[in-house]
Amino acid sequence: MNFTWAAAPLRKIILSVAEPSVRAFVPIGRHLVDVNTLIGKKIRLNWPGMAECQSCSGIFSSLQAQGLCRKCFFESPMAGQSMVRPELSTAHLGIADRDLDFERALQLQPHSVYLADSGGVKVGVTRTRQQVTRWLDQGASRAQVIAITDNRYEAGLIEVALKEHFSDKTDWRRMLAGETFDADFSAATGVALEAIPSDLKRFAVANGVQHRVHWSLAAGFKAKSVKFSNHGDEIEAVLAGQRGQYLAFTDGRAINLRSHEGLFIGLSC
Ligand SMILES: [Zn+2]
Repeated sequence: MNFTWAAAPLRKIILSVAEPSVRAFVPIGRHLVDVNTLIGKKIRLNWPGMAECQSCSGIFSSLQAQGLCRKCFFESPMAGQSMVRPELSTAHLGIADRDLDFERALQLQPHSVYLADSGGVKVGVTRTRQQVTRWLDQGASRAQVIAITDNRYEAGLIEVALKEHFSDKTDWRRMLAGETFDADFSAATGVALEAIPSDLKRFAVANGVQHRVHWSLAAGFKAKSVKFSNHGDEIEAVLAGQRGQYLAFTDGRAINLRSHEGLFIGLSC
């Protein structure tokens, strides 16, 4: 190991579309670690201990979930009910879930309902201005917008209707294996457009662009997920590639960095 980034709060991997494969940077404290240059090299990731809440910036020995301390997880609008279930949004009615100003800013803007292939076709909802980031975070190989709505609630209603036909979950094992939806993706988008409820059809995007994404991780990867749960946990292995929010190692281990957001992570290479 020639270089060490001292343990500092980890943030989710910053991804951008590029050829021949997605560019990935891991933010550790004030540093950005260039993942693409580390592929094929031995690296060590470790969690000596401590974590920073991504909402209140408090320092804790561990976090509850989503990079948040226990209090923020149950009280912050960053973990409100509409984050996971857009159809439960209420800002358009002027009704607060946890913090109306925060929820208005987040929910009352254009949202995209999309189909993505991330180890199988899935439906999802995201703010339109960050849709590409969302697809990259999920490790998608292709994606297409099905509808663009005025707010998060309307997108949630469309997603609920589309869940009759498509999963809303990513199968991370199949995503890391590089499996793709084996039926006709264009036909699937046709089914999705048909499934939009009639009172929401005005938001449909017919003939949307099919976006393609290429990843550094070779197909056929058989992943065994690892998670840092105890102070002192570490991984030392050769980096095989990266996809979505995962780093994958040649010994089959894979770690979802997003689920470690806020932990003081050290990295050596
Ligand atoms: Zn907190």
